[in-house]
Amino acid sequence: MIRENLENVRGNINIALENTENHTVDLVAVSKTKPFDMIVEAYENGARLFGENKADELRKKYELAGDMDIDFHFIGHLQRNKVKYIVDKVALIHSLDSYRLAEKIDQEAKKKDCKVDILVQINIGEEDSKFGIPIEEAESFIDSISDFENIRVKGLMCIAPYVEDGEENRALFRKMHEVFIDIKKKNKDNVFMDVLSMGMSGDYMVAIEEGATMVRVGSAIFGERNYN
Ligand SMILES: *Cc1c(COP(=O)(O)O)cnc(C)c1O
Repeated sequence: MIRENLENVRGNINIALENTENHTVDLVAVSKTKPFDMIVEAYENGARLFGENKADELRKKYELAGDMDIDFHFIGHLQRNKVKYIVDKVALIHSLDSYRLAEKIDQEAKKKDCKVDILVQINIGEEDSKFGIPIEEAESFIDSISDFENIRVKGLMCIAPYVEDGEENRALFRKMHEVFIDIKKKNKDNVFMDVLSMGMSGDYMVAIEEGATMVRVGSAIFGERNYN
């Protein structure tokens, strides 16, 4: 099942790319809540980036992965007291959503003598239920954290509202891309703006058409999640 699903998603990504100036998109296979066996199956079919949203679960899977060529991405809300468990295990944190979290990541990264790549999470749908910085504050927020030496700002991320039809999120993705490009053009020190992480199972094709460079796809690869 995972093999066919991955083939499907990759096919869709290529179709969506035909309508853009981008040539590639990074696919993060969102493996949260799923057993490690499923990561192995996806890995055997070419997946290398895996998304997790719980620090403990990421840590366990990281140990199981051993010397497999896997990058784990942290995509959930990160509590400051969990930063120390993952800071040297993640390739990218998608969900930086406060100054205090940035400060904590910087401190823990210093202790472990590593640099941490992060994306700033934007609450693009202005939903009370979601974390993230308001889009109007994206640039000033980035300025406020760009001095942290052990953090590299690599771009922006958003979780768009849940919709029946991904088309409904097109305008929000377009807005994200505009702000991403605006900030990128300013060539700020220690700010790279290479990654625009947006699009999930329901809307990744629309997100790619609007300029996503990275999509996070879970259920379309691994099947529905069971949270019990
Ligand atoms: C769970 C999750 C995803 C994947 O969601 P699907 O709809 O299953 O593709 C992507 N991004 C984040 C931040 C998530 O928490």
